[in-house]
Amino acid sequence: MSAACRSLAILGSTGSIGRSALELLDLHPDAFRVCALTAARRVDDLAEQVHRYHPAVAAIANPELEPQLRQACADTDTRIVSGTAGLVEAATNAGADLVLAAIVGGAGLQPTYSALQHGIPVALANKEALVMGGALMVSEARKQGVDLLPVDSEHNALHQCLRGESLDEVRRLILTASGGPFRTAAKESLAAVTPAQALRHPTWKMGPKITVDSATLMNKGLEVIEAHWLFGLPAQQIDVMIHPQSIVHSMVEFVDGSVMAQMGVNDMKHPIQYALSYPQRGRTNMPGLDLVNRGPLEFEEVDRDKFPCLDLAYRALNEGELAPVALNAANEVAVAAFLDGRLSFPGIAEVVDEVLQSHPGGTASSLEEITHADGSARQRARRSMDGRQE
Ligand code: NAD
Ligand code: MG
Repeated sequence: MSAACRSLAILGSTGSIGRSALELLDLHPDAFRVCALTAARRVDDLAEQVHRYHPAVAAIANPELEPQLRQACADTDTRIVSGTAGLVEAATNAGADLVLAAIVGGAGLQPTYSALQHGIPVALANKEALVMGGALMVSEARKQGVDLLPVDSEHNALHQCLRGESLDEVRRLILTASGGPFRTAAKESLAAVTPAQALRHPTWKMGPKITVDSATLMNKGLEVIEAHWLFGLPAQQIDVMIHPQSIVHSMVEFVDGSVMAQMGVNDMKHPIQYALSYPQRGRTNMPGLDLVNRGPLEFEEVDRDKFPCLDLAYRALNEGELAPVALNAANEVAVAAFLDGRLSFPGIAEVVDEVLQSHPGGTASSLEEITHADGSARQRARRSMDGRQE
């Protein structure tokens, strides 16, 4: 282990991002050691990771599964914890120099925010945490003087394009979107879309929730809000463009009309590597980009009528405060119902719209206010679904 070896806590280590991060660490055993790993429910996968990486702490979010995890890790020195308090402990009390926030959904907010409160830098994949608690997280990172580095490929691209630049000289940020599996489908055909079809993403292999979000374009909406918090620009300066090949990961247009784009093959290991080694660039054995053989790169406008989730997200961002919390909560409930076969694909946007319309307002100045608004929006989303005839 070299002197520069850093301790990494991976929140959501059994997921798509978590496993990609561990694969990267296998290439750099001298640069990183794993000090904490967490999962929602997959005891066997987490126990296997504990035996392989020997973290100081392993947390299982479901407290009922703690005895099972404890038993499966009885032959290790790893401290086994559970529940939200356990996730917070993994983030803040395992000796991490850096936390990779890769839990999906609002469940990641508290541990990620706690890491920042403890002055620990965060590499952020968990965009929902920032959509919900952007103001709190950004001001805490600033107060503590620690980095909040984007792992999401678009924001990672923007971060790269903005290195050494002044935000005052930015005309607009342009987030690229693959358009998902239904980019060319007729609007009328979307009512019959099945979860299996929505889970067939054309260019990225990801967890189920974000894959459905990519199909509705809510993912891009959440990313517009994420970009607002990470780069401090208003909604009017954040645009979205369809780019089916997912090679240009995003662009920055400057006040002189010049545009910087970041490109690369579509493998999340690239942005994860960037965030973990920042401000250095880590060496990898990953392939570069073969533009000559890649074929043409295309760009299109978003069909905002076919994909109403994008404008719902802009609306929530413009409304501000707790509206993005309501948007995110309703979307999480609706996507879970869609994956369960209880809600149609267009129903996702309809439920989110209804929850946003009944949003009672209020300020997002504490974790308690955010958690309360999140719970209330989830209830309204369930009620909205109960009242529907699918
Ligand atoms: P995933 O479903 O593959 O993994 C999610 C991880 O979170 C798992 O380890 C799971 O055990 C854990 N988890 C789920 N619910 C939890 C809960 N209630 N409490 C605690 N832990 C919980 O998801 P993913 O694709 O790896 O995405 C993770 C995050 O990264 C998401 O916010 C997603 O939007 C973002 N992201 C993912 C990708 C990608 O390529 N997968 C790209 C950009 C951003
Ligand atoms: Mg993204």
